[in-house]
Amino acid sequence: MKFILDSMLGNLSRWLRMLGCTVKYFKKASNHELLDLARDEDHILLTRNLTLFRRAKSTGISVFFIEGMTILEMLANFSQKFKIPLVINISISRCPICDSHIKRVKKIDIADKVPSGTLKHHDTFWLCTGCSKVYWQGSHWKNINATLQEAKKLLESRIKNTSR
Ligand SMILES: [Zn+2]
Repeated sequence: MKFILDSMLGNLSRWLRMLGCTVKYFKKASNHELLDLARDEDHILLTRNLTLFRRAKSTGISVFFIEGMTILEMLANFSQKFKIPLVINISISRCPICDSHIKRVKKIDIADKVPSGTLKHHDTFWLCTGCSKVYWQGSHWKNINATLQEAKKLLESRIKNTSR
């Protein structure tokens, strides 16, 4: 699925890319520009800006108002709406920074791009085909999965509550 996010949703944009969504995000884009892009490129607009939400609705643009104050609440809200599971499948993940595809690479191909300690302790690496950033499942990987687990729990409790 392809999304365009308003400037308040920078953090969410990185999560959605890791989950495999195509995400357009600009730190500085006017409401007018966001609406034009959403319409012309057939992206779903995600926003926390009520004015922007209403304007999109009134002009027939696909738009969803992201609820929640924390990233956990936002992820749960998003997953419930679009039925996108809160699990990372790296084969479809996109670069959280630039939205390009990432590809598995051999250790030797990135040996000069990562610290030697990292190279020693990890065998699996991915390279962004856009910005050339190298990824591996380091200590931050645990935090990423823990956050997704928390968001999943929140989502499950919501589904339970609404089906009562
Ligand atoms: Zn990148």
